[in-house]
Amino acid sequence: MIFDVLIIGGGVSAMQCALVLGSAKNKAFAADKNIGIIMHQRASHLQDALFNNVLGLPPKTLGKDILIKGKEQLATLYPDVQQIENEKVLSVLNIKNGYQITTNNATYSSKIVIVALNYSKPFTIEGLATFIEPHGSANTSKDRIQLKNKNHLIKDGLYCCGTIAGCRSQFAIAAGSGASVATEILTIWNNNIPTKIHDKV
Ligand SMILES: Cc1cc2nc3c(=O)[nH]c(=O)nc-3n(C[C@H](O)[C@H](O)[C@H](O)COP(=O)(O)OP(=O)(O)OC[C@H]3O[C@@H](n4cnc5c(N)ncnc54)[C@H](O)[C@@H]3O)c2cc1C
Repeated sequence: MIFDVLIIGGGVSAMQCALVLGSAKNKAFAADKNIGIIMHQRASHLQDALFNNVLGLPPKTLGKDILIKGKEQLATLYPDVQQIENEKVLSVLNIKNGYQITTNNATYSSKIVIVALNYSKPFTIEGLATFIEPHGSANTSKDRIQLKNKNHLIKDGLYCCGTIAGCRSQFAIAAGSGASVATEILTIWNNNIPTKIHDKV
């Protein structure tokens, strides 16, 4: 299958991005779009996190529960978003009209790729090394990294979000970054008319 957009990562920014993209599937401009997410979660900062300071999350919410419930929410509400489990991305390479994404198990093509890893080293995905730079908003003693980008855009068809985009590491900031990239892509699909997706009572 050729994806229109493929998200790499299964943490905060990645799942928030997927939820917003999935919520647009009933719009004409997104109806024919193939959306996928490589739902790798083992290396997520959510694995060890405990949340008391995130609006809307009950105090003492465990990050590892969000990892499970986020996947369920996506599958239940937006089943058109293809969740690819048990795969880790090894390379992202330019091809005609998009990118070739190779995992430990398969190869995919996508017109748009969104890199939603976190700011931890090592970052080993082949094809992206030239974009790595020191993180601009983290404590320098921690040696964090980000990908060079302008408002999440690395280069044509290639985006990043979350801490790897240079966001400071707070749940709400990472989630907002993922949502922001999703609305950028929806806007492009919608003939560049500024686009958001809202449900209403
Ligand atoms: C111990 C701890 C406590 C925290 N407490 C708080 C708190 O109280 N309040 C708060 O606001 N924030 C807190 N945070 C920060 C918050 O968890 C992060 O800001 C948030 O998880 C960052 O989201 P992200 O999408 O950038 O990265 P992540 O959520 O880490 O997601 C990155 C994803 O990329 C995946 N990935 C990595 N390599 C590959 C690969 N090769 N192929 C495919 N996928 C890959 C990972 O498995 C992971 O799912 C805490 C973090 C930690 C570690």
